[in-house]
Amino acid sequence: MKTWVRAVLETACGGACKQRIQEGRPMQVLEVPGMTRRLVRCEACSGEQAPPNLPDHVETKPFGPLKPMTRLGLLPLDREPGEEG
Ligand SMILES: [Zn+2]
Repeated sequence: MKTWVRAVLETACGGACKQRIQEGRPMQVLEVPGMTRRLVRCEACSGEQAPPNLPDHVETKPFGPLKPMTRLGLLPLDREPGEEG
């Protein structure tokens, strides 16, 4: 399978150029069934043009907003049943 994505971070091109694909640049990812490794190639090495409508690099947000879990201790306790206001 062949897909175009934008490099989320600087990635070494697996093609002939041995260049590094800069963050945000389009790169071609080849997934070969039965192989665990993916082959990454830059535009030049793939010999193709990245689709012009390639979405901006997908934000995976590994450090996104924290869930309010960590604040639980600071939240007022729910009212107990039968204990009106
Ligand atoms: Zn290359």
